[in-house]
Amino acid sequence: MKVNILKEAVKYFVKPATVPFPAVQPHFPKKFRGPPRYDPETCIGCEACARVCPSDAITVTIKDGKKILEVWFGKCTFCARCEEACPVGSIKLMEIYGMPSPNKFDFVSRVEHDMVKCRICGKYFATVKHVEWIIKNIREKIGETVSISELKNYLMICPECRHKVENIPSLKKLLMRVLVKEVK
Ligand code: SF4
Ligand code: SF4
Repeated sequence: MKVNILKEAVKYFVKPATVPFPAVQPHFPKKFRGPPRYDPETCIGCEACARVCPSDAITVTIKDGKKILEVWFGKCTFCARCEEACPVGSIKLMEIYGMPSPNKFDFVSRVEHDMVKCRICGKYFATVKHVEWIIKNIREKIGETVSISELKNYLMICPECRHKVENIPSLKKLLMRVLVKEVK
């Protein structure tokens, strides 16, 4: 028994099972889940990440025509739901383990967006990039048969006003007409 213990002790003395962290970074297996970080270049501010976060680690603040999304690592459970839900791959879990810091702002990833106003009530309701992304996607499907300004006319209306003017059913009808024509 004692011989076995001695053997193990020598084996791990020669080849330690641990690494002297933080001088040496540990090995990260594939898909290691560290804290999530935004890519401000590609994020469109759609809020899908905040809506699916089960631990409320992502806050959305709308102020003075800006939308700010912040993920606080202290509340994050590293479940990766935000990464899965993002339609453009803009939030990713980093391969980082152990981030000691005396500054609490080191535990936050933040992204800020300009917003657009509803053309009926004047309220800020979506980000500029989100509207542009939807227009780009529609035009990729239907080509350039409907102008950007016509699409903006349909899309620059907040959810509350949409119920009053029913613009989304009319947009769907317009897109269906265009797609049916193209199929013919
Ligand atoms: S990894 Fe999970 S808990 Fe952390 S911010 Fe994303 S959805 Fe929320
Ligand atoms: S990170 Fe992705 S899901 Fe979250 S707001 Fe940006 S684009 Fe939307």
